[in-house]
Amino acid sequence: MRWCPSPVLHLVRCMLLRSCTRKGKIRLPLCLKERWAYIKLLGHSLYFSSLTDSDVVFDSVFEPVFWSVDYVTRWFGLVFVCLVVILTSSVIVIAYVVILPLALRTYSTGWFLWHVCYGHWNIIMIAFHYYKAAKTSPGSPPTVKTDIPFVSVCKKCILPKPARTHHCGICNRCILKMDHHCPWLNNCVGHFNHRYFFSFCLFMTIGCAYCSISGRNLFMDAYNTLERIKHLDLEKPGVPVTGVGPLIGLLPSGQTKYQTPAPSYTFMDKMFNKCIIYMWVLASTAGVALGALTFWHAVLITREADRHAKQGLIYKNPFNYGKVNNWKLFLGVERRSHWLTRVLLPSGHLPYGNGLTWDIFPCKKHVVAV
Ligand SMILES: [Zn+2]
Ligand SMILES: [Zn+2]
Repeated sequence: MRWCPSPVLHLVRCMLLRSCTRKGKIRLPLCLKERWAYIKLLGHSLYFSSLTDSDVVFDSVFEPVFWSVDYVTRWFGLVFVCLVVILTSSVIVIAYVVILPLALRTYSTGWFLWHVCYGHWNIIMIAFHYYKAAKTSPGSPPTVKTDIPFVSVCKKCILPKPARTHHCGICNRCILKMDHHCPWLNNCVGHFNHRYFFSFCLFMTIGCAYCSISGRNLFMDAYNTLERIKHLDLEKPGVPVTGVGPLIGLLPSGQTKYQTPAPSYTFMDKMFNKCIIYMWVLASTAGVALGALTFWHAVLITREADRHAKQGLIYKNPFNYGKVNNWKLFLGVERRSHWLTRVLLPSGHLPYGNGLTWDIFPCKKHVVAV
């Protein structure tokens, strides 16, 4: 259980002041006495409590470890967010500085326009959903007394927990319809930002796949060119030929010491090829990792209907029932036009419900005919 410092410290201070007044003198500094009294109080509360069991003792002993892990994860969250922004920005800069001029020279007008339009749409979707997922609060239960039904009480917040709410140790609060804490967003994924998180993963995966597939030939060319440059660097003019031993005497006069001049590659040529290789490798690896994550989330969202169907439960909601309906609920699609305006374009619409009560909650088939 997390320690709430103010009331405990106040109690410890009162006990100390009373004992100090009785004895008339303080042998140890007050801060050390406070710490000692706090440790004694913890020990007594564990020892004398009838609710103490092995789990409570384990939690209490390892609380500093959990706290340290949470603290480090919270701190690393900022580093991870900076990493996402820097890596994504680097790919965008390479696309503008290196790829765009090349595409302008080599592609037909139609293909060039298609790549420009698609690329910008994908960048906007990624940036919008990442910003919203990181900045939108996932939602927490109210801290004041309400009539909202709850399923349990959070031991750490000492507050009622509505259905599908879980406590996050890193955010140190309860999260409505909690999915997980995402260090790459430095935020929890819950009721109000789950759609943004999923859309970000989806559009980032699509963007990575697009870079990887459309840049495959460029990558192969750049790789071969760099390999060629590496060989030419070893044999460039001015560097004495080594390792040929007896052949030196057989070479024509004037070429015994130096080889013929090689085609020169500028520093910009090398950077150009290295940028293409960096972009392709980054996009491919990120695409595979994010693709697996997105696929797993998609399976979980789709299976929601199966889980309830197995329990003999169905959804009571204004749409069709089943897997497609789950996706409509998740994405907020009420009309056909919403597939365009709410899914394929940036949209800040709120999710269904308030995350506290679930009026689309499953009902028993034999009780409510729908
Ligand atoms: Zn909590
Ligand atoms: Zn969290």
